[in-house]
Amino acid sequence: MAKPISLPRPRLATSGEEALLGDAVVVTRLDRAIGWARKYSIFPYPFATACCAMEYMSLSMSAYDIDRFGALLPRFTPRQADLLMVIGTVTMRQAPILRRVYEQMAEPKWVMAFGACASTGGFYDNYTTLPGIDLVVPVAVYVPGCPPRPEAVLDGLMALQRKIQREKQFPPREAAAR
Ligand code: SF4
Repeated sequence: MAKPISLPRPRLATSGEEALLGDAVVVTRLDRAIGWARKYSIFPYPFATACCAMEYMSLSMSAYDIDRFGALLPRFTPRQADLLMVIGTVTMRQAPILRRVYEQMAEPKWVMAFGACASTGGFYDNYTTLPGIDLVVPVAVYVPGCPPRPEAVLDGLMALQRKIQREKQFPPREAAAR
């Protein structure tokens, strides 16, 4: 008599988790799969205005290799980008331009304040400097430093990836239509 084949027992999914069915099948929620794809396919738009831009350039070099996080390819049109990286000082005159760039990006989109100047105006305490870009655009993640080290930017990027993964990927219809 043939010996019965013993199949591995499936690990049951807990709420919001993947389930492994044998070695070949993974079951997950569509919501989580989309979040996973989005967090590893970030297209940044670098709104670079000042010295922090040097640190941004070093991110793509081999020592830091931002491509590991799926976020290397900068797009220089806001319509093809989903991460607005505001890198450096923003003046009052640039603020409406920054807002327009943000509005031209398609949903879903996120904003990173890169460095002290973008986050708070930095050491500029005068009437020409915007004291924080959150006065004109919603910021998802702040990276401190003047300039921030590339490690700090990668840390901020990973924080953003966790945030993207946790987000609800299907907003209610009326919210999406706004
Ligand atoms: S935070 Fe420092 S390095 Fe960055 S733009 Fe401002 S002054 Fe320059």
